[in-house]
Amino acid sequence: MSITPNSPLSIQDPAIASAINAEAHRQQTSLELIPSENFVSPAVLEALGSVATNKYAEGYPGKRYYGGCENVDVMEDLARDRAKAIYGAEHVNVQSHSGAPANIAVYAALLSPGDTVLGMDLSHGGHLTHGHPVTDSAQRYNFLRYKTTPEGTIDYDALEATAKEHKPKLILVGYSAYSREIDYKRVKEIAESVGAFAMADIAHIAGLIAGGEMNNPVPFFDVVTTTTHKTLRGPRGGMIMCQSALAKQIDKAVFPLLQGGPHMNTIAAKAVAFGEAQEPAFKLYAKQIKANAQALATALTTRGFKLAFGGTENHLMLLDLTSKAITGGIAQTALDSAGITCNKNMIPDDPRSPMDPSGLRLGTPAITTRGLKAEQMANIAHWIDQAIQNHANPIALANIKAEVADFMNPYPLFQK
Ligand SMILES: *Cc1c(COP(=O)(O)O)cnc(C)c1O
Repeated sequence: MSITPNSPLSIQDPAIASAINAEAHRQQTSLELIPSENFVSPAVLEALGSVATNKYAEGYPGKRYYGGCENVDVMEDLARDRAKAIYGAEHVNVQSHSGAPANIAVYAALLSPGDTVLGMDLSHGGHLTHGHPVTDSAQRYNFLRYKTTPEGTIDYDALEATAKEHKPKLILVGYSAYSREIDYKRVKEIAESVGAFAMADIAHIAGLIAGGEMNNPVPFFDVVTTTTHKTLRGPRGGMIMCQSALAKQIDKAVFPLLQGGPHMNTIAAKAVAFGEAQEPAFKLYAKQIKANAQALATALTTRGFKLAFGGTENHLMLLDLTSKAITGGIAQTALDSAGITCNKNMIPDDPRSPMDPSGLRLGTPAITTRGLKAEQMANIAHWIDQAIQNHANPIALANIKAEVADFMNPYPLFQK
């Protein structure tokens, strides 16, 4: 929401008020195709900006170290109960500050230093927190990799063979750039056969699972982590779901092992977002995200773009630009100038560096929240194609940017 001219913030701190308003304008006028972003509802924003931010509440509902927690207990209980109902979870921890800390907490709860973890190769769609060498986790634990097949799906046979050979303590699925469905049953069977924990990181697809549009690992996986701000369309935050048997270990890892007081305003906003995800309208939203992704993928393929992983079965797609004589980095910059926001990304076994890789990652959760439908994906594919072809022509890019702003004008940032 824009900051109004006479608001307390405008009067007290015009520099911040004006930067927030400029950001609201950027969001309103551009096409947001970063698959990990979304637009929260006014209700979520209201909870986030509430007095709940003032409260210290170390501990868990009913077992706090501070007085005066009776109201924040209501918020946290509602958040946990709603998440349990949505995903069929036995136990939920809503205190993780974000997706990365949630993963670190699970590793701390279930692993000892030096333990082996089997996760997806990062250029094949895995996430930094799944053992990238730049992370602290990579120094503590021994991460091994599985990949996708040339056809683009997870190589479950190789995953099984690696698991049998190396006997990991934890097998990790759930990705940031992978665009296909996941066979959780198969992964759970493999994990059981070698005595490993099965963990899914559903950070990207939590909303699609909540809406019934993708497979749900929560009822039978040992532990599932997620963000709450991607397809789930809540405040920036994390969450861990697990079997009751692991509840104590997980809760202790989040607090006191790794975090201090929970951010109760965020937890209140998580509860509000989970309430929205329980509405019938959210099912339609999740369905439309997928329909839009399929329509955008088809429109781009028609224009000669190649998709990694052989297409999309979720909310995102990874364009393989190797045949287009442009890098992901140059394409991202050109699209930014054209009012189309997305991010460069590695493609499987990318020959280029992560700073200027061969791929571009696009997703439909945010534009679907704005109200765009499948018919309009052809317009977007057209602009993407034009911007990439005219990447060295600032006037052409500025023209597209003006067209994009006009196109988005009828779709306010806030709608149900
Ligand atoms: C986004 C993401 C995360 C990290 O979430 P943050 O909130 O940025 O810390 C973790 N895992 C996966 C698979 C993600 O896509």
